[in-house]
Amino acid sequence: MAKLKQLYIDTPLSLGGALNPPKEVSRRLSRVLRQKKGDKLALFNGKDGLFEAEIMDDSCKEIHINSILKPQPKPQEVYLLACLVKKDAMDRIYRQATEFGVTDIIPIMSDYTVSDKVNEERVTSLLVEAAEQCERLTIPKLHKASHLQNIIPEFGGKVFWCAEHVGGKWNAENHSKSGDALLVGPEGGFSSSERNWLKSCINVTPVGLGNFILRADTAVCAGLSRFFEYYEQS
Ligand code: SAH
Repeated sequence: MAKLKQLYIDTPLSLGGALNPPKEVSRRLSRVLRQKKGDKLALFNGKDGLFEAEIMDDSCKEIHINSILKPQPKPQEVYLLACLVKKDAMDRIYRQATEFGVTDIIPIMSDYTVSDKVNEERVTSLLVEAAEQCERLTIPKLHKASHLQNIIPEFGGKVFWCAEHVGGKWNAENHSKSGDALLVGPEGGFSSSERNWLKSCINVTPVGLGNFILRADTAVCAGLSRFFEYYEQS
């Protein structure tokens, strides 16, 4: 069976239901994705699971939900605290975090970050596209940008701080679990006062990602791959 195109739709989905999607969704289906009457696709809304859906007319104004393909996975919470970097690198960070399975992204301002602006609408559509493409059934939640000194003290889980000079390899006893976070600094790294402050935070664990200085977006990939390698599914 040909692999069904997976599409996010922000509406309740249930077995045997009929859908009249919003105009812009019908337009995207018929004009952009060239779906026709009888075509099938996989729909998810981030809450109810993945469903096989059938287009009932060429203008894609009516869709029938035929079957459930995958149940909605148990909710997890994996945070990425990513210091804001230049747009292209930040776009890579948003996309890669989605592909690795991050559920919550908090853009961070610190001493050396260059911007504090996040275009929420543009980033949210980037997250949706990344989730569709990597066949996730949830869209990462984009939080408001926060300052490092504000977010860490109030963060409830463990913060795995990717620290290039603190050393500290990521090894088996440093298990990550639902509710924990990965923290990655900006292009210029954290300032020495920030590094000293982070070392004093009881909920922060420094982890090394090898002997070389990685670019922030590379560090996000290396950090998340280790975070999930030692992740204890709750
Ligand atoms: N401080 C460096 C560059 C920072 S790289 C400089 O000034 O050139 C951006 C971020 O990536 C760092 O703040 C850190 O969070 C992470 N990072 C880069 N290389 C790393 C390594 N080898 N181990 C752990 N974290 C690393």
